[in-house]
Amino acid sequence: MKAVVWNGPEKMAIEEVPEPRVEAGTLVVRPDAAGICGSEVEGYLGKMGNRTPPLVMGHEFAGTVVEVGEGVDEGLVGRVVAVNPLASDETCRLCRAGLTNLCPARTLIGIHHPGGFAEKVRVPARNAYPLPEGLADAARVGALAEPLANGVHVVRLGTAGEEPVEHAVVIGAGTIGLMCLQAAVLSGIPNVYAVEPHAARREAAIGLGAHAAYASSEEAWEALRGISDGLGADLVLDAVGATATRRGAIGLLRPGGRAVMVGLHDDETSLGFHGVVRGQIRVQGSYAYTAEDYEEALGWLVEGQAGIGALPPVLPLEEGPSAFKDLVRGPSAQIKVFLSGASGA
Ligand SMILES: [Zn+2]
Repeated sequence: MKAVVWNGPEKMAIEEVPEPRVEAGTLVVRPDAAGICGSEVEGYLGKMGNRTPPLVMGHEFAGTVVEVGEGVDEGLVGRVVAVNPLASDETCRLCRAGLTNLCPARTLIGIHHPGGFAEKVRVPARNAYPLPEGLADAARVGALAEPLANGVHVVRLGTAGEEPVEHAVVIGAGTIGLMCLQAAVLSGIPNVYAVEPHAARREAAIGLGAHAAYASSEEAWEALRGISDGLGADLVLDAVGATATRRGAIGLLRPGGRAVMVGLHDDETSLGFHGVVRGQIRVQGSYAYTAEDYEEALGWLVEGQAGIGALPPVLPLEEGPSAFKDLVRGPSAQIKVFLSGASGA
């Protein structure tokens, strides 16, 4: 079968690879839509230590079940399923505490196992969620569950505890930023603002529920001061992870506020810590999601409560290498690029 194979920094090609063999408790899916994640663009450049070439990436996908293994419901063949790519051992101390996303033995399809940028992919049956039959654009909608699950997790961490969160700021309005934004709105935070330099992406943020969108943290601070008694935001979510956005996130917070960091753009960042100490600021990392986060995200998408606005077309796998090359050049108005090896998709 054909797959998009990453062979090292900026080396990607369509190659013929062995088909996955179905095993007990698994099923084989033909991805009908597989989204390219920002972390995969960084991975393509060789900046992500957790990806080793040669690798078939693709962890945001949904598709049609073509084969089921022993012990799996045969009625699933032909159904469109969304796939949670993350599996943990369910037995370690962290898993037993509900921290399955932090399991030391966790694996991700598209990082540790061949992913969705291929004609077929094998997935554990328990990670496949059948979508309602007749759901419009089911594969693309289902493929958004993974990035939205990240947003659900970020907001869950950001709102844990007793303190009310009235003003939240999301930095970055790419896919993950827009997902954090919608999770924040849907979780009931009354005022959610976006910071994003790209004008079309600011518009997307407004279209998806942001109460205002600003081109810079400085602009956001000017606006926030007037509506938060001069204090700043209760919660800031950094979906970029550049030194400037990490500093911006901390600078926008009120004393005692919380910054949740999910963007991975830079590894090392220097930050002024006197303000963190004197402001009693909480800096929280967020990684991936639990099955519960994924299920909440998928539910919102299926009900039409969340999305990315107009869905872009699904490109054939052959356009994968050039799509990655384009994405390296930086943000565009298009929020998500989908690939699929399904004929006629
Ligand atoms: Zn575990």
